Amino acid sequence: MSFDNFSATGRQLSAVSGISELMEDLGQAVSEGWETIMMGGGNPAHIPAVEAVWRRRLHEILDAPGEMETMLGDYDTPRGRPEFLQTLAAFFNRKLGWDIDAGNIAITAGSQAANFLLFNLLAGPDAASAPRRILFPLVPEYIGYAPQGIAPGIFTAWKPRIEMLPGHRFKYRIEFGALGDDVAAICLSRPTNPTANVITDDELQRLSGLAAERGTYLIVDNAYGEPFPGAIFRPARTVFGEHVIHTFSLSKLGLPGTRTGIVVANHEIIRRLARMNAALMLATGSVGECIVQPLFASGEICSLVQNIVRPFYEERSRQAQAWIGEFFDDALDYHVHVCEGAFFLWLWFRGLPVSDRELYARLKKRGVLVVPGSYFFPGFGEPWPHRNECIRVTYCADPEKLRRGIAILAEEVKRAYSEMPSAPV
Ligand code: PLP
Repeated sequence: MSFDNFSATGRQLSAVSGISELMEDLGQAVSEGWETIMMGGGNPAHIPAVEAVWRRRLHEILDAPGEMETMLGDYDTPRGRPEFLQTLAAFFNRKLGWDIDAGNIAITAGSQAANFLLFNLLAGPDAASAPRRILFPLVPEYIGYAPQGIAPGIFTAWKPRIEMLPGHRFKYRIEFGALGDDVAAICLSRPTNPTANVITDDELQRLSGLAAERGTYLIVDNAYGEPFPGAIFRPARTVFGEHVIHTFSLSKLGLPGTRTGIVVANHEIIRRLARMNAALMLATGSVGECIVQPLFASGEICSLVQNIVRPFYEERSRQAQAWIGEFFDDALDYHVHVCEGAFFLWLWFRGLPVSDRELYARLKKRGVLVVPGSYFFPGFGEPWPHRNECIRVTYCADPEKLRRGIAILAEEVKRAYSEMPSAPV
């Protein structure tokens, strides 16, 4: 008897994706206890001063009569805890000058689930079977978007312009094109995972204008951004309007285990997300909401971001870049994307004679885990050598290990370049 009679949708959603294989590969190396230097995943760092706040909050919850009991023993609504939604609305209004109410917010199971629900709410064939797509206006873009479409082919992308900068640096810029009739929403992460790019205020304004003009949505994924966790290293203004959907997350603040994502959008989108939440999981998870509720009410979250979280990642980023400068041979054609936020450095080895996947495999053999860059081009079908010349590394690892990892990376890259017929070194 065969048990593989799955629906087309089931097959699409449960198919092996590049990223699922890669994550298993990374996870296996760690669980088998290899002596590895983890420069791969997107886990936030364990910051003791941040963890002390979570510990304090858990004690406060345990000590307050009835708090633990409702947190663990009651279902919330499919939009979240009403008190938390009100606190959040007031927080966003105070902090970003918005004018929203609790009806503009829904909680989801991590912002990963928020993206999944939003993409499939907006994209896929419409009632007349015409395709509706999500446009990534700039790739490379977050690897986790790629397997999220229920209908096949819902993603499309624009190829960026590369601006070369002194000191082995570069920056991707949006190459604006015409917005096709099939575009249901434009989506980007800001800061961008994997590149650490923060698209400029002008670029964001222009995207927002395009979306508004065409009656489509603009989804801004703030998983690393303002106002929390604030892993963003230069001033950036955001955009707002009925056509703008913002997603946020508690994960990169240090609470990925609570699976708490936050969506801010117009009332109709939020009503629909709540119904989708109800179908999928009845109610939202309460633990993350309960832990952070008073921090958002008092504004303590802002001092945590400003005094601890942002300086921590900014210093790690500076240090990792300094080590790259120290270990990489200046004669090599390597380039680091300007690091404006998130937890990553995006490295481009122009003309490298081995592919990003081969470099990944060679590094893995030496115990260094990175992520090959070619996974980060969701919706982008054009052949482009650049996509096989990049890797992503995270600087959340222990600094001593990170230093060793960067030294090994520099050696392997030099060795790979030396395999060129007319090697530059
Ligand atoms: N968006 C971006 C850009 C991310 O990098 C991630 C996780 O790495 C997510 C969304 C999903 O995070 P979570 O579901 O933990 O909120």
